[in-house]
Amino acid sequence: VPRGGQGAAWEHALAGGGLAACSLALRLVREQLGPVLLVDHAVHDPRTFAFWTDQSGELDALVEHTWRELRVLGGGQELSLPLGRYRYVMVRGEAVRAHAHRAIEQAGGRVLRADIDRIEDGTDQAVLVAGGERYLARWVYDSRQDRTAPPMHQTFHGWWVETDEDAFDPARATLMDFRTAQEPGGIRFFHVLPTTRRRALVTGVNYAPQPLPIELERYLRGELGLRRWRVTGHEGGITSLDPRPLSRRLGKRVLAIGLGGGLLKPSTGYALVRIQHDAEQIASSLRRKGHPYALSRSAWGWRFLDAVLLRLIARRGPATERVFVALFAHNPVERVLRFLDERASPAEVLGLVLTLPDWRWFLWAALAVLLGA
Ligand SMILES: Cc1cc2nc3c(=O)[nH]c(=O)nc-3n(C[C@H](O)[C@H](O)[C@H](O)COP(=O)(O)OP(=O)(O)OC[C@H]3O[C@@H](n4cnc5c(N)ncnc54)[C@H](O)[C@@H]3O)c2cc1C
Repeated sequence: VPRGGQGAAWEHALAGGGLAACSLALRLVREQLGPVLLVDHAVHDPRTFAFWTDQSGELDALVEHTWRELRVLGGGQELSLPLGRYRYVMVRGEAVRAHAHRAIEQAGGRVLRADIDRIEDGTDQAVLVAGGERYLARWVYDSRQDRTAPPMHQTFHGWWVETDEDAFDPARATLMDFRTAQEPGGIRFFHVLPTTRRRALVTGVNYAPQPLPIELERYLRGELGLRRWRVTGHEGGITSLDPRPLSRRLGKRVLAIGLGGGLLKPSTGYALVRIQHDAEQIASSLRRKGHPYALSRSAWGWRFLDAVLLRLIARRGPATERVFVALFAHNPVERVLRFLDERASPAEVLGLVLTLPDWRWFLWAALAVLLGA
């Protein structure tokens, strides 16, 4: 059935249907910006997203658990950090997909399960070729892949763990636990999301030039003191940590979204909040300008700080544990989260850097990044 205006079958076609595509679809539908086609080959892993926020958002209704306190462990310290006006929350990728699919279909759009072969750009419309069929659309949003050859990878490997005895505190999530063997050239830590006293998602995270294996069992036994548990689910993946800006405009009619649009914050590995903000900006650009390209990107200064931090991790490796722990130990947590959200003032950023024990490293790393060394 032909849809959309000016000869285009669809107003919006989403190539790939993960977090970025679903988030954008929800926004386009809510703002009634025209019919949406979403195409995904649906070969995906279960994925649980966690993020901190002090605002309300599109995914609020899907939040499965909220933590008001975070823990950071490292350098012989254990920090308990009440979050103030922030909260740390968890949503399931599958819930986001189901919610977006319903919204698309209720608004007269279509969700198609197919392998995308290619996208052909054009002057007035683009063609998405999937499963041997051609779909015309006025705008195509491509989220199929990570496009960079990055200086650093983030590797995750997580288990949903269940125990027969109380073993977790569902009121506190562990943001970073560095109590594990470290290797030069990168850093590793564990992240724990307890949803009940007997159930948690325990994830090992590595920052390293190349993906590395993660020893979950040793952490569960050694640091969490578990003797027996059942693994009821696996989650994992690899993302590219790359502070270099990516071009978002892939053609006259094609925009890169999600990680392929450079939306992962390279120093933290979080993308969800940025993806929500991006969806809002795309919708606003369509309304105001008639195209989706009027988007702001991270200011140069923030990308520079990401590059400095990645360089520190690469050069100082395990010693950067001290930097992360000191950041949370010597500053109010709300200020640190504002900094990571790129909302801190320049004076706050300088103040944060000066609280670090090794702030001179920062200066050296900053100089090296500036000189392109
Ligand atoms: C394991 C893991 C955990 C993460 N956890 C967090 C977190 O807790 N908090 C956070 O903020 N960020 C997190 N991230 C980072 C980021 O939010 C996710 O990577 C997020 O999924 C990015 O969304 P996306 O739409 O760019 O990519 P994806 O969600 O990966 O979507 C891409 C989609 O394209 C589809 N696709 C690809 N090729 C084709 C093709 N040829 N044809 C059809 N379909 C295709 C795939 O099936 C997939 O559904 C995590 C990343 C990983 C890997």
